[in-house]
Amino acid sequence: MKNMLSIDVEDYYHVSGLSSVIRRADWENYPKRVVENTHKILRLLDVHNTKATFFILGIVAESFPELVKAIHKAGHEIASHGYGHQPVYELTETQFRQDLQHSVYTLERITSEPIKGYRAPSFSIIETTSWAIDVLFDLGFRYDSSIYPIQYDRYGWPNAQRFPHVIKSHGDDVLWEFPPCTIRALGRNIPIAGGGYFRFFPYRFTKACIQKLNAKGLPTMVYLHPWEFDPDQPKFQPEFKNRIRHYLNLDKTESRFSELLKDFTFTTISDFATQLN
Ligand SMILES: [Zn+2]
Repeated sequence: MKNMLSIDVEDYYHVSGLSSVIRRADWENYPKRVVENTHKILRLLDVHNTKATFFILGIVAESFPELVKAIHKAGHEIASHGYGHQPVYELTETQFRQDLQHSVYTLERITSEPIKGYRAPSFSIIETTSWAIDVLFDLGFRYDSSIYPIQYDRYGWPNAQRFPHVIKSHGDDVLWEFPPCTIRALGRNIPIAGGGYFRFFPYRFTKACIQKLNAKGLPTMVYLHPWEFDPDQPKFQPEFKNRIRHYLNLDKTESRFSELLKDFTFTTISDFATQLN
């Protein structure tokens, strides 16, 4: 059974959870680690003969076009993580549209291939920003992966669908939604296989959950970030909750990720959903 693997390509200082201690205006002053960390992921994927979808931040692509080319050349899918990493709920509809267009222009100029997919910074398509779906559809995106069907502080749309589905269509034009992986427990959706949740739960638990979903014929969407493979990144002191979220078990990501790639079959979103091609 094929599962979907996605990497949100951004640097440690872009993360929303650190925004209380890192000002956007200072981003350019921090040591850049995204290239090296992304190459770490590319090497692991190569060892396990696995392809993934890379949602690349526009500002990263602009600074490091060679990185985008390397990801593309290795046969992975290039998709958009927006341009400036502002959560959708901090943007007007016009600003969101401009951010998307800027990111697509930046990526397409490097790869010369159309961008089909989008993931919002911090999964920030929520009930109050559902207008973003219309904008994505309007701009010709084929799929979105920004709606997290959980209850959470910064994001989440708790009663959204948990598995791939068509979220908007008109005639032959269709926009798919690919939600990150959750399990049902205690009457709610629990995120298990991405980012801080992947680092929080013991790997044997993650593995058992994915096995259980796959046994029912249900695919999972896993996501990680290059900075999660970097225990040596510069450390900051945000509020306790965000400190835990960002720094927990960074030294375990690489070995767990290798286990995951050994235990399951993963592919890109476009390869998983062949109807997108
Ligand atoms: Zn992000």
